[in-house]
Amino acid sequence: MSKLYDSFEAAGINLSGAGDNDTVTIECPECSGTRKKKHTRSLRVTRSAGLWTCYHCQWSGAVRQDHHVPQRPTYNKPTITFESELPQAVTDYLVKERGIDPEVLTPDIIGFSPARKKIMFIYRRDGEIVNLRYRDRQKRYSQEENCEHILWDRDKITKNCELVIYEGELDKLTGDSVDPDRVHCSVPNGSNSFQFLTNSEKVLELPAKIILAGDMDAPGRKMVEELARRIGKDRCYKVTWPAGCNDANDTLLTHGADTVRQCLDDAQPWPIEGVHSPSEYIEEITELYRHGVKQGVDPGMGLGRKMRISPGCLSVGTAIPNHGKSTILNNIMVNIAKSAGWSFAVFSPEYASPAHHVRNLIQTWTVKPFTEGVPGRMSEDEAVIAIRNIDQHFHFILPEEAAPDIDTILSRAKQLIRQKDNVKGLVIDPWNKLEASRDRGQSETEYVAEVLNKLTYFAKQFGVHVWLIAHPKKMERGQDGSYVVPRPWDISGSAHFFSMADLCWTIFRHVHDPEADVEFHVQKVRDAGVDGELGVVRLKFDKDCGVYSEGEQKFEEMI
Ligand SMILES: [Zn+2]
Repeated sequence: MSKLYDSFEAAGINLSGAGDNDTVTIECPECSGTRKKKHTRSLRVTRSAGLWTCYHCQWSGAVRQDHHVPQRPTYNKPTITFESELPQAVTDYLVKERGIDPEVLTPDIIGFSPARKKIMFIYRRDGEIVNLRYRDRQKRYSQEENCEHILWDRDKITKNCELVIYEGELDKLTGDSVDPDRVHCSVPNGSNSFQFLTNSEKVLELPAKIILAGDMDAPGRKMVEELARRIGKDRCYKVTWPAGCNDANDTLLTHGADTVRQCLDDAQPWPIEGVHSPSEYIEEITELYRHGVKQGVDPGMGLGRKMRISPGCLSVGTAIPNHGKSTILNNIMVNIAKSAGWSFAVFSPEYASPAHHVRNLIQTWTVKPFTEGVPGRMSEDEAVIAIRNIDQHFHFILPEEAAPDIDTILSRAKQLIRQKDNVKGLVIDPWNKLEASRDRGQSETEYVAEVLNKLTYFAKQFGVHVWLIAHPKKMERGQDGSYVVPRPWDISGSAHFFSMADLCWTIFRHVHDPEADVEFHVQKVRDAGVDGELGVVRLKFDKDCGVYSEGEQKFEEMI
């Protein structure tokens, strides 16, 4: 039973000491006392949305909100009303102690606040001041309240430039000092900076190359990985600073300007596909050696024994019409949103309207019927909380065109991945809605290969799992006249669906025996052990709320 509360505190949720990220995972006040490992963190709290869910006991709830939530945030615009020239002592510190070239300390990007006694970094967009960030000698930071987050010095980014993005301002100034041929910017909030991506869509399209030059510590590496995923790994390069140096300024002070430039020149592309040298995988292999194979995410309902969901993969699902392929996908997405916090970009034009789809998702989220008169109906609070969760985790792609092509859908998906947190899944349901955009003169098989190539590349480039739902070409009947389980090579159009997918599955209902369990057949697993194994999982279906749960499993059924 989930409820609305007046505040996090009123729900017994204590966020002090949880760090300052928007989404944090803490001990669950409902179930931590009853668990063997008392200090396991199982409650995911998103502060800005006022939402929480425990992936252990399923307790969820929300902070009551005004009905009038502003659509677009309004930001303060700070102004500088004082003499902000850098005092000689500060210039001396930056030049003599940190090796910065005095020429790059220009008053449009850097100043000094006499009131705060701190260096002031001036964030401008098209010349206008958007934010001010302050730093003292002890590396203590502060910034103006409620200002927009943008890249520092983004006005210098031009078409086809090479852009270097750093974690700290002094690193950016180091880049300016040693390498005037490239454009150097820094993120606005250290290793927690992703909000700037929402307003950088156009400016990040300009550079020919984007070099990510974060710190070498764990938060820095994590930030660089996530930035590459959201910007698109095909355009990003990764800098490795020399052993013992954490960042660009460290490297300058320890080894000198030539070494900093050399590190930027030597930045490595992310391995995506094609031929790569084994050395590119050293980190990944070391990780594997130390921690073993990292399995994909469990989609719940008992499916995890046969199928795991990994970023960077393509799943193809097929089924006889009305056997529930869209519903099982809703169940998989809701389970993964709850357990792993993923969000999804969804192109699903067969629903009468997004509202209709949301209604189905609300039932899946609450595991209760929506409709009045049906026993066990959800409360209004539960519906409101579910809608707010769905708003966080599901982003619908609704192109204006009647028959959008794959490029239109992928470009919308790319925007969502950049702008929204944790978009790790893309759904295209169904395939035949894309077919109308096939070129005349291109065979169906060629067209399928082209689109699937784009999807597999997109999955790897942005670290998302792509689900493609397709119809079988013909429904075969067995000797008794009932339909037989469709196989992925039966999909209308091409055997490429089977050969190019990482995972293939079908869901099958025994139409003549409504009491029988629904069968989920895993028919292809490219990376056995990591992503699952072939076989069948039996599911129960609650048609009042459209929710699947684990059925009674028979002995191992192989295909
Ligand atoms: Zn709990």
